[in-house]
Amino acid sequence: MHDVIIIGSGPAGLTAAIYATRAALKTLVIAGTTAGGQLMITTDVENYPGFPNGVQGPELMELWRKQAERFKADVVDDNVTKVDFTKRPLTVWTSDGSHEGRSVIIATGANAKYLGLPNEERLKGRGVSACSTCDGFFFKSMDVVVVGGGDTAMEEALYLSKLCKTVTVVHRRETFRASKIMQDRLLRTPNIKVIWDSEVVDVLGESKVEGVRIKTAKTGKTSDLKVQGLFLAIGHEPATEVFQGQLKLERGYIVLQPHDGLSTATSVAGVFAAGDVHDFRYRQAVTAAGFGSMAALDAERWLQSHG
Ligand code: NAP
Repeated sequence: MHDVIIIGSGPAGLTAAIYATRAALKTLVIAGTTAGGQLMITTDVENYPGFPNGVQGPELMELWRKQAERFKADVVDDNVTKVDFTKRPLTVWTSDGSHEGRSVIIATGANAKYLGLPNEERLKGRGVSACSTCDGFFFKSMDVVVVGGGDTAMEEALYLSKLCKTVTVVHRRETFRASKIMQDRLLRTPNIKVIWDSEVVDVLGESKVEGVRIKTAKTGKTSDLKVQGLFLAIGHEPATEVFQGQLKLERGYIVLQPHDGLSTATSVAGVFAAGDVHDFRYRQAVTAAGFGSMAALDAERWLQSHG
């Protein structure tokens, strides 16, 4: 029986593990078969504090994991296949059987959606990105495309417009779904242009992005636009499939229900959530890490009074 089972091994999960083990809680991390989270598919990370010269995403996660293991967290490199939060102890299954915990921290994260084009996949990290805060800086004074018509697309385009020469938003319909205020802000920005009713159908370039091919829905005509960056802002998919029916979700994200000073509490007593699995707003490694430490402190406090 573990005091805390942490599901996920990105910044939120591993930070929760560091805090839980250092508080002498018997901790199990179920890391997932592709451990490390979204930073594993990132190259340069320049905004994570403490690395004045930047750090590669996978290197950062390796250091993070070593730090978590130093304090003797048990780690299982497997995916969670099922959970039962309806009775105590809380039970979590992986392919080799069940694991019981007095508390659980869910830190399974979310994945950015991509268009699913072969060249988009090939050029990820070489001009294709799903995070302007992370990568915008590398496109200073360049021309970029943002795909999407929601609030995230507006935010990404506005952020990029301060760094880039031009930003072209390509949206598949003739109206945005973003909030009016964000749309207005975007449409008022001189170096942002919108291509309506169109889709990016290919990404051009050998070793880095050199352009995109855009298809207009009505005419079916394609044209190429020379850009150095392609930013996808077509939504995120929180990794919560196995938790459906077990705790409160909204649009797939875990809903936090803070009470008794426990900010990361969920709708189930003793189950906490940290990082992108509940936070669709900030989505940064540093904020996920912050939530991870909060969840571990909350679990510890909760175990003191309910364990
Ligand atoms: P979203 O609202 O679901 O918008 C996704 C956008 O991507 C939509 O415009 C959609 O087009 C487009 N899209 C989806 N799949 C596509 C595909 N395969 N090809 C081309 N376009 C595609 O997602 P989001 O913008 O990430 O926002 C998620 C939630 O967070 C929303 O509730 C949003 O309000 C909230 N949020 C709020 C703020 C803020 O308040 N500042 C900031 C960010 C996010 P269609 O419109 O045609 O469906």
